Amino acid sequence: MQKGNIGVTTDNIFPVIKKFLYSDHEIFLREIVSNAVDATQKLRTLSQKGEVKGDLGNLTVQVKVDKDKGTITVSDRGIGMTGEEIDKYINQIAFSGANEFLDKYKDDANAIIGHFGLGFYSAFMVSKQVEINTLSFREGAKAVKWSCDGTPSFEIDDSDKVERGTDIILHIDDDCKEFLEKNKILELLRKYCHFLPVPIACGKKTEWKDGKEVETKDDLIINDVNPIWKRKPTDLKDEDYKKFYRDLYPGMDEPLFWIHLNVDYPFNLTGVLYFPKIKNSIDLQRNKIQLYCNQVFVTDQVENIVPEFLTILHGIIDSPDIPLNVSRSYLQSDANVKKISSYITKKVSDRLDNIFKENRSDFEAKWDDLKLFIDYGMLSQSDFYDKAKNYALLKDCEGKYYTYDEYKKLIESNQTDKDKNLIYLYANNQEEQFSFIEAAKEKGYSVLILDGQLDTPLVGMLEQKFSQCRFCRVDADTVDRLVQKSDAPKETVNAEDSEQLSSIFKSQLPKFADKEFHVETQSLGINAIPVMITQNEFSRRMKEMSKIQQGMAFYGQMPDMYAVILNSDHTLVKKILDESKVSTDESLKPIVAELKGLHARQSILRQEQKDKKPEEISQQEKDDLSKCDKDISEQEKKKEQILADYAKNNHIVHQLIDLALLQNGLLKGEALNKFLKRSVNLIK
Ligand code: ADP
Repeated sequence: MQKGNIGVTTDNIFPVIKKFLYSDHEIFLREIVSNAVDATQKLRTLSQKGEVKGDLGNLTVQVKVDKDKGTITVSDRGIGMTGEEIDKYINQIAFSGANEFLDKYKDDANAIIGHFGLGFYSAFMVSKQVEINTLSFREGAKAVKWSCDGTPSFEIDDSDKVERGTDIILHIDDDCKEFLEKNKILELLRKYCHFLPVPIACGKKTEWKDGKEVETKDDLIINDVNPIWKRKPTDLKDEDYKKFYRDLYPGMDEPLFWIHLNVDYPFNLTGVLYFPKIKNSIDLQRNKIQLYCNQVFVTDQVENIVPEFLTILHGIIDSPDIPLNVSRSYLQSDANVKKISSYITKKVSDRLDNIFKENRSDFEAKWDDLKLFIDYGMLSQSDFYDKAKNYALLKDCEGKYYTYDEYKKLIESNQTDKDKNLIYLYANNQEEQFSFIEAAKEKGYSVLILDGQLDTPLVGMLEQKFSQCRFCRVDADTVDRLVQKSDAPKETVNAEDSEQLSSIFKSQLPKFADKEFHVETQSLGINAIPVMITQNEFSRRMKEMSKIQQGMAFYGQMPDMYAVILNSDHTLVKKILDESKVSTDESLKPIVAELKGLHARQSILRQEQKDKKPEEISQQEKDDLSKCDKDISEQEKKKEQILADYAKNNHIVHQLIDLALLQNGLLKGEALNKFLKRSVNLIK
């Protein structure tokens, strides 16, 4: 028997390994099983070259959990090791500046393990003792046993092992007992070893016999040695891809499309990416791409390797060229990783372009599910926008799809305003905005349906990308002003009447804490509704943006801005004006006269002070003007009060306001109840 010290410069490295790598303890299994698979692959290679003769036998790697003994044993039938090889590969691990490095990368076990070739030693994260029992494939080799209890000292001795290959026996630490549960080990094998290229067995398959679950003679193989991404696309059918997806993501809806990645220059990368059905939350489905390195699972955190918007995709990327032994922040600046990232973006875009060109109806059928993903891509990456703008679609209220170019051609002639801006009209709720949509259609306008989660920022982006255009929601204004074709909007009432009407309606509008109404008159034609409410496009959009974008909280607190438009052509509105004049003229007359005088005086005073410097204006002059201002506002208030008193008992005013509120979904609770009662009374 021989004793010795493992060649590490730092005394007692194992407690360090344990302490710093605690978060990723479970990867020990991946490391040990990968070594077993490597040893088996090496044997296969040697056999192919004729350096190993004869039948290789069953090469399945066996993982056994013995809860009673407290051990996990990983056995392979690979090349094995001689005593010298153990000395060379296991004992002599070079640790230079280990502490310093461990400190730097303490949160990233992959980095440390990769850096040091620490694979085998990760066993000590969970073991109090590790044994190797091995027989090399070399002719005349002697079997050897190696054992180490987690200090830098080890023992090596002869073994009676007769079968070629290696057993790694882990005596699991008392505080890592969870790894002695077979189900835990099965879970880890499925996570990390699901696609390793050599069969891996963990116990036996079971079957039900006489109401009991009993073990059969067959090994329970946990992996798929020939996963689809390693196969040729020409050998695969759609069903193979779908089945693979179902196996990877049980319970998920069928994917929309998939892309088979396969490149070997300038980097090596294979994989299959799926477009999942996504309708709701973007975040929900993240971390579904799994990163493999030669079929060994590494991570599902791929943020730095694929562009952010592609992390919504599902599937697998396998590349030995992604440096795993570096910290995450370093990854972003790695040239290979950058190339990989843009390769994947290009592939995804090309694939979508292909489907669009080859099977547009299929593409359209899937558009609603794809939309969020493509919009997100266009918003987050301008190089993706440059490609996607050719196949990204817009849907109109009739359910027809158009590319950006097609749509532009469609609306160009009829929806260009007097300033040569192309106006894109849209709705985000066909039911709620029904009457606005109808009004637009009557003018021969097309209305898009933009009800996606990202449509607000998308619209903002498209306005920037397309030249001379505006997007307006159909309820943002009256149809004539949405696409304003002539300069002077005709007005049928004079300014005073307009003011009187506005005042009457304003006085009766309900008060909302978070809403502001501006009342005005407009000539909308005798057939249009008497009162209509529109919502300002800009402030609505800013508020919507504030919900999804940081730093816009200010807009979020702003009230919703509405315009109440009184149709001065409508008989009911005219009637209110006429009647109000009859019943208020008498009491308004002296006020109007007084106001006239006050306004005249005000403008004289202002005129006098206009050209003077502030210090040249006397106190008397200042007082005069402010008294005049005060008197005006008092008279105005009186006037408003008289009109409010008139309006208070006018059912038609109330009814018209409520109808307009109702049309915009703003009439609720007590106000709705009052409206219902009043309506019943009116038809009684
Ligand atoms: P790496 O696998 O990165 O080289 P490890 O610490 O995991 O680092 O293993 C060190 C070496 O020990 C391997 O390169 C291999 O030569 C040898 N080794 C480990 N496990 C086995 C095994 N099951 N069979 C044969 N050789 C092995």
